[in-house]
Amino acid sequence: MVNRHLTEEQRNIIKESVTNILKALGDDPEREGLKDTPERVAGMYDEVFEGMRYTNEEIAALFDKCFEKSGSSDIVIVKDIDVFSYCEHHIALMYNMKVTVAYIPKGRVIGLSKICRIADMVCKRLQLQERITADIADILEMILKTEDIMVAVEGEHGCMTSRGIKKPGAKTQTYVSRGVFKKDPGLRKEVLG
Ligand SMILES: [Zn+2]
Repeated sequence: MVNRHLTEEQRNIIKESVTNILKALGDDPEREGLKDTPERVAGMYDEVFEGMRYTNEEIAALFDKCFEKSGSSDIVIVKDIDVFSYCEHHIALMYNMKVTVAYIPKGRVIGLSKICRIADMVCKRLQLQERITADIADILEMILKTEDIMVAVEGEHGCMTSRGIKKPGAKTQTYVSRGVFKKDPGLRKEVLG
């Protein structure tokens, strides 16, 4: 897999910006505890925003490892994949996040580890929970070549639990249902239950 990183120029812009934030907060960017902070933040952003350097089509191509499956097409459900992301409104952590994916195979089954990698990569962007849910569904649809897909995401948002209205434990739930999942409430219940 190609490993895309931030360029030297991009890292320098992040470092300079973090230094300016520290100054604006009235702190001294030269003091012991802070002097490597801009460098560390640039390194962290390189990692946690890796998914911003790939399109959904590229992510689909990277993890398109399916095996053929003939015969009856029973529902496949993968529950509670742990992910982290950052909200685009506050660059705040979204945590305690669980992704559940369900689909009805149309001759193709994707490996569990690939579903986890797709969810991970989509979350490594400045995100909205609604868009995480839709991005995962879009990528799976490209790989599995079926519309019969459902994705559910739940999570806590640092910008809601640690500031503002401060409601720790308040979970946001989002889901996308397509094909048979859209038509059949019983099937949706099976996935969410
Ligand atoms: Zn936010």
